[in-house]
Amino acid sequence: MLTIKEFCFNAFQENTFVVYNEKKQAIIVDPGCYTRIEQKILTDFIIQQALTPTLLLNTHCHLDHVFGNNFISEMYGLTALLHPNEQVVLDRLPESAAKWGIPAEAYKGPIQYIQDQEIISFDDDELKVLLTPGHSPGSVCFYHKAQNFILGGDLIFKDSVGRTDFPGCNAQDLIKSIREQIFPLPDSLTIYSGHGPKTTWGREKEHNPYIKHIRSQS
Ligand SMILES: [Zn+2]
Ligand SMILES: [Zn+2]
Repeated sequence: MLTIKEFCFNAFQENTFVVYNEKKQAIIVDPGCYTRIEQKILTDFIIQQALTPTLLLNTHCHLDHVFGNNFISEMYGLTALLHPNEQVVLDRLPESAAKWGIPAEAYKGPIQYIQDQEIISFDDDELKVLLTPGHSPGSVCFYHKAQNFILGGDLIFKDSVGRTDFPGCNAQDLIKSIREQIFPLPDSLTIYSGHGPKTTWGREKEHNPYIKHIRSQS
């Protein structure tokens, strides 16, 4: 049984997740911790729960989702798992951070590429990689079928979807990703988004104006 702890970090109010099992092994998803205080909030939780982080996952590599990659990779000796199409986004980190006036160093740690439909094993649990480009070229969701949830990054939010007006974004790809990867999933699916509260797929099908529009075009 996995437990999901959510943190909200940095100027972009990004959701960082710590997902852990009964053996106290932990996955850190999209570490957005930017300040020393945010880093300490995250590590204090890991210490208090006596967790051992064993995986570092990135749904995508926009600055707000990778601010803490160096810190987490160094602190726990972890390799960042991300889709190869995100490498270019990750490489742009110092430049895009400078544009926002929030300096950040390039990620220096090890990287391992993950592919669509790949199964990431985490002790007895499995997370399936769903490639969902659109908001960024190699965005992925991590799908845990047994507990019926996805860590969805910036694909779908409560009442909204990921922005597609940045470089590397593509609105048609986003729609295709939602159609092909999310439509087949059950209404009861819980979506943990990269910003804002968690929601369910059924709730978004009923109330999210973007999803309603996509469904009406099907
Ligand atoms: Zn993003
Ligand atoms: Zn984001």
